[in-house]
Amino acid sequence: MSPLVFEIVAFVLGLLFGSFLNVCIARLPRHESLWHPRSHCPHCSKTIRWYDNIPVLSWILLRGRCRDCGESISWRYPAVELATAIWFTLVAAVFNARLLNVLHEQVPAFQTEHLADQSIAGIAALILGFLLIGLLVMDWRTHTLPNAFTTPGIAIGFFLTCCQIIFLGPKEGDVMLHGKNPITSAGSTVDKGNLILTGPEHIVLGWLASVAAAACLLLLIRFLYQKLRGREGLGLGDVKLIAMIAAFLSFWPAMLSLFVGVVLCSLFAVTLMARGKANATTQLPLGTFLCIGGLVATLFGAPLIAWYSTLL
Ligand SMILES: [Zn+2]
Repeated sequence: MSPLVFEIVAFVLGLLFGSFLNVCIARLPRHESLWHPRSHCPHCSKTIRWYDNIPVLSWILLRGRCRDCGESISWRYPAVELATAIWFTLVAAVFNARLLNVLHEQVPAFQTEHLADQSIAGIAALILGFLLIGLLVMDWRTHTLPNAFTTPGIAIGFFLTCCQIIFLGPKEGDVMLHGKNPITSAGSTVDKGNLILTGPEHIVLGWLASVAAAACLLLLIRFLYQKLRGREGLGLGDVKLIAMIAAFLSFWPAMLSLFVGVVLCSLFAVTLMARGKANATTQLPLGTFLCIGGLVATLFGAPLIAWYSTLL
């Protein structure tokens, strides 16, 4: 498909998902149903007509006001729709380029596996971005990171990892943990004395280790901070958020998100303090900055981590 068509489709889909994300952002922190009642004006409670509910466009045409009561409608609504659309377009551009790369460079025998791998990674990037943009706004507005996003996020990460297994070739990804004989496939007749993890076992155990290590590290930081400062600096929501990023991207990209998030949050705190708007006890929306870190890690994690390892 021509790259431009691919990206336009992604942009329009992003607008629609962004519109749904707005409903999640407004209702999840208050534990309200996503499906009932239909979208309505927060001021006069009148149901919004379908033609006033077109992403971004309706907000511009109505000049940011409700058609019934004339009260202003937050710019957050079109901003979230636009941000989701831009995310979908970026992911489409990056992963379309990677798919074309596979078609040009790989030997045909390996193409199916690599195409499947990249497609699954692309779908994972779309879903993770959707969840992260939602959590980013919810933590900023309400200082909550709802379980309704983080827990299913971890489950979806696991499901997509399992999907990768379907496309493993025979013996692909097998790892010999310990062995005397040069045979590296599990269950073969000459494999006595060898200890082998098959590809699927390797992928699932790797996933579990990633998520558990990320969660344990964050719990440890949380515990130490509480001991040293005598107050909570890191919520359980932040722990689940980093575990979710690890569930989609694996351990090191999750650590990159943590690093970017903490740096950005510190810069934000310093700026607030310099302007006299905060002191050492002000509660900061760390989750918002961790989400920005997660978005950076999704698109640029692999090249950034590769670059960093050349420095060691
Ligand atoms: Zn109204």
